[in-house]
Amino acid sequence: MSETRRRPKAPGTPPNARPKPRPAPGAEVNVKVEWDQLSAEIRACRKCPLGSTRTNAVVYRGGLAPRVVFVGEAPGAEEDRTGRPFVGRSGRELDRAVATLGLSAEDFGVLNVLKCRPPANRFDPSAARTCRPYLDRQLELLRPEVVVTLGARALAAMDPSALPMLSAAGLPREHGRIPHFPLIHPAAALRSRRLRERWESDVRALGRWLGERLA
Ligand code: URA
Repeated sequence: MSETRRRPKAPGTPPNARPKPRPAPGAEVNVKVEWDQLSAEIRACRKCPLGSTRTNAVVYRGGLAPRVVFVGEAPGAEEDRTGRPFVGRSGRELDRAVATLGLSAEDFGVLNVLKCRPPANRFDPSAARTCRPYLDRQLELLRPEVVVTLGARALAAMDPSALPMLSAAGLPREHGRIPHFPLIHPAAALRSRRLRERWESDVRALGRWLGERLA
């Protein structure tokens, strides 16, 4: 995980785009210390029943100063085994989409609303309420310019009024603390041709929006 906030150009960024302000000297070091403390706390968490059924809590993958954070729902079997988010089939779908956006490895990060895999992958709203302060703290420390939500649970965590998912997906939402862009969950793109087409056209819309938003 990098400790410096690099600001490479987003796809479509005009040549004279204003660079982002750099954090104060030493700020990255403090963020790294707090981030490591928070990550250790999440890995040791037993605040809800998922703490005793998981193999690994799943914290984050990506740079420590990302421009874009993708928020998923909950770890699946592969994520539980490895302790890393989106490393299974839907993760590969997500990575393929991210590769089309022109973001470098340092520019983006991936995390979940729930940090522990729910049994039978059944999303647990009560566990999500318990887990919520971890999500808020992660976003405070990472300070992304935009969030991309993946699926209805992630969208509800950012903005419950935005649902239903298929009406919201593909349209940026500028209100709230962090502007966000809802996508359907990448696992949905694996389920039907119709949803794959929807996923792909919304990812293209995301690329256009990032080109303007990150300029
Ligand atoms: N689905 C999610 O929402 N998150 C993961 O980490 C993996 C699959």
